[in-house]
Amino acid sequence: MRQAWLSELLVLGGLVLAALLLGAFFGYFGWFMFAALVAFSCRHLLQLYRLERWLRVGRVRNPPESWGIWGDVFEHYYRLQRRYYKRKKRLARVIREFRESTAAMPDGTLVLNSEFRIIWFNDAARETLRLSSNRDLGQPIASLLRSPRFKIYLDAREFNQPVNVPSPIDDSRTLAVRLIPYGAEQYLLLVRDVTRMQRLQAMRRDFVANASHELRSPLTVLSGYLEALAEESALGSQWREPLEDMQAQCQRMSTLVNDLLELSRLETEEGDASLEDEVDVPALLDRIARNARAEDASRHEISLEVLSGAGLKGNDSELHSAFSNLVVNAMRYTANGGRIRIRWFARPGGELAFEVSDTGIGIDEKHLPFITQRFYRVNSSHSRYKGGTGLGLAIVKHVLQRHNARLEVESTPGEGSVFRCVFPQQRAFYNALLSADSSILAP
Ligand code: ADP
Repeated sequence: MRQAWLSELLVLGGLVLAALLLGAFFGYFGWFMFAALVAFSCRHLLQLYRLERWLRVGRVRNPPESWGIWGDVFEHYYRLQRRYYKRKKRLARVIREFRESTAAMPDGTLVLNSEFRIIWFNDAARETLRLSSNRDLGQPIASLLRSPRFKIYLDAREFNQPVNVPSPIDDSRTLAVRLIPYGAEQYLLLVRDVTRMQRLQAMRRDFVANASHELRSPLTVLSGYLEALAEESALGSQWREPLEDMQAQCQRMSTLVNDLLELSRLETEEGDASLEDEVDVPALLDRIARNARAEDASRHEISLEVLSGAGLKGNDSELHSAFSNLVVNAMRYTANGGRIRIRWFARPGGELAFEVSDTGIGIDEKHLPFITQRFYRVNSSHSRYKGGTGLGLAIVKHVLQRHNARLEVESTPGEGSVFRCVFPQQRAFYNALLSADSSILAP
């Protein structure tokens, strides 16, 4: 038994014994026993009163001096109170540091609760969104950022990318807004003014588009003259080779200009590809496979498997461009005699996939994260020699982005590659008139 309880029992025992002895000596046994119990109760009442007074004061200060079980109670409570105050102080320090660091951030930062209502914001957010503590604390963020894009972003609850919205105080400015979930359904909203960056990007896009456009006419003239010269029988045979070379280079430049124009058009296009237009993918793939075989002149074995009759809601010419870029790449980076397999199929979750697999040179894993960047080539001279512009996969990436799709690449150097475009179920459309399900079109 604990010391405190023992001494408490000893006190009680002592009092009862004293009452017994006094009762035996003087008589009035009952009165002495009553007095002993009253004395015992008074001690406890007094200690209870001291405890209550100490708690009432409420601050951490030394507990009342006591002994026995009351000494232990005061000590335990004092220790608990100190631990609680220390934790509270630590938490207050963490919160202060968090607020100081977010207040110092150059980007607007807002803390939102689970209903996306504003519970705190820093000075940068106050300035960027012209917020006022009295008016805006507790307001839903959607009533402040009223862009439909932001509403879709909130509803979709996919917060791994920022979304660009017009500024609520000046719609000529653009804000990049990103939600970061943390803790128990709380959100940090980061707001950055990206107007300058957007203007620079638009200038770069316009410049590339204009330059490519301007290059087109001189190139057409040049290739016209070169063609006429190549057919000129009066020219000596020593001109054959240089002329052929000039024609090939001219062709390369026009392909490059066309790819640049297509890429800048895709970059300028706002938002996603339309959901109104329907593309008969099986028929499109049939066309692509026929063209590829005609161009390939039996250097490779090209097969097409259409395992789903589904079509896609989107843009026909963009999808044609993306799919044929992947097929052309497979032909370009597969040695003669290799196999190229084009497939169109539905995945178990309802997603649709276009896949091109080849038995070509493959790509080392370290290059995979970069191959969709403009002009990124694993082997520049090989790509140029094969007529590549370095823009094909950048075009594919943009087209897929506009169709809410993703690109999956698996590749083993020396064995081959698989490029897969995966489209969400919302992009699928089914029509009885489309090519039949599960048909396999032979090469
Ligand atoms: P390019 O016009 O050079 O083919 P792309 O953007 O289409 O440019 O492709 C980028 C790079 O990715 C290529 O230079 C090539 O190194 C690599 N690549 C693309 N497709 C394949 C493939 N099917 N097999 C091997 N490498 C590929």
